[in-house]
Amino acid sequence: MTAINHLQVYKFGGASVKDAAAIRNLRRIVETTAPGQPLLIVVSAMGKTTNALEEIFDLAHRGHDYEAPLGALHDFHAATAAALAPGAPDAGPLLATLGALREQLAEVSADNYDRQYDQIVSYGELLATQVVAAALGAHWLDCRPLVRTDRTWREGRVDWATTRAAVAAALPPLLARGPVVTQGFLGGTAGGLTTTLGREGSDYSAAIFAYCLGAEAVTIWKDVAGLLSADPKIFPDAVRYPEISYQETIEMAYYGASVIHPKTLKPLAERGIPLRVKSFVDPAADGTLIHDCQHPALAPAFIRKTGQCLLSFESKDFAFISEENLEVIFGALAQARLKINLMQNSAISFSVCTDFSERRVQQLLALLGGQFRTHYNADLTLFTIKNYDAASIARLTTGRELLLEQRTRSTFQFVCR
Ligand code: ASP
Ligand code: MG
Repeated sequence: MTAINHLQVYKFGGASVKDAAAIRNLRRIVETTAPGQPLLIVVSAMGKTTNALEEIFDLAHRGHDYEAPLGALHDFHAATAAALAPGAPDAGPLLATLGALREQLAEVSADNYDRQYDQIVSYGELLATQVVAAALGAHWLDCRPLVRTDRTWREGRVDWATTRAAVAAALPPLLARGPVVTQGFLGGTAGGLTTTLGREGSDYSAAIFAYCLGAEAVTIWKDVAGLLSADPKIFPDAVRYPEISYQETIEMAYYGASVIHPKTLKPLAERGIPLRVKSFVDPAADGTLIHDCQHPALAPAFIRKTGQCLLSFESKDFAFISEENLEVIFGALAQARLKINLMQNSAISFSVCTDFSERRVQQLLALLGGQFRTHYNADLTLFTIKNYDAASIARLTTGRELLLEQRTRSTFQFVCR
């Protein structure tokens, strides 16, 4: 294995590649911030393409017509590529990928939803990387044979030993020749099927590559100034953390701070690889440095998770919620792949707050309906205040009806309408 010194991994999310102007900006960032350095560029789907593909796939799966949204997706990618390189002869790979998407869509059946979802929705990254690689004149790399996962569709679990060996063998000779562009969010099974790593999973991809290659640093380029104490669209007085530890960041990401995918930090922390979060609008600004450090108490962080659902289970015979009951409830949650964001136990009922998915909740109710009386409310919001104080609690809770609340020494959480 050839070692690569001073490798930088850059991750560009959907907003940073949303149109031709954004991709020109990406090109400027690459040229000015990492000249001559070995560079791996991990790219997400352009703008809202993943949402569009989810809709197209859903139509296909239900046997409905998807021609109009597919046509729009096709034209958008082709037009962006053309705007970046007018008259360029190398639109071939992009057009071939668009053709392959069309063919795969024609094969979608009523069979396993999640498996087929991965085969289709993954095209967002395959297309975006074709456009970006062509614009940079960089090498386009298919990550799927390298990032090996199991068959947990839509949330592929990485097989680290296989991935590390494959990445460490394939990348160094490519990187020695110049920048390499590859997909975020995607992996592949041993049988050659595509998997995805969970929505917003491109950050995690960047961390996987950085870990496997012992990168010097990872930089996530965002439309915000760095890691902030809150989403500035909701809390205009949000402050930027100039420096923050892996541990704090892992917790914030876990609670739903959307700036970094929660799985990203662990591989980086394990190898001590610093993570920078920087603004693609102002690349010279400092951003946030996430690494192994000590810092004084941080300003309270406000994290909002919408689209939540509060489920309550009562045993039908008014028996107390026992460990045996909990085992059944947890088993069913795992089977329906509903992740617990918050939970609370009382004498005869047990409540959990999860991300709402109609399909998964119905599956859960079918599993538990025989044994428990279940209620649920959807369209709820889960707020978390990390490093809370009295003022920050008052600020968020005043005037809100709290359906459930919980606090630990450092964290205050509540579910509301
Ligand atoms: N394109 C994928 C998504 O929108 C992955 C990502 O953006 O990180 O979820
Ligand atoms: Mg995205």
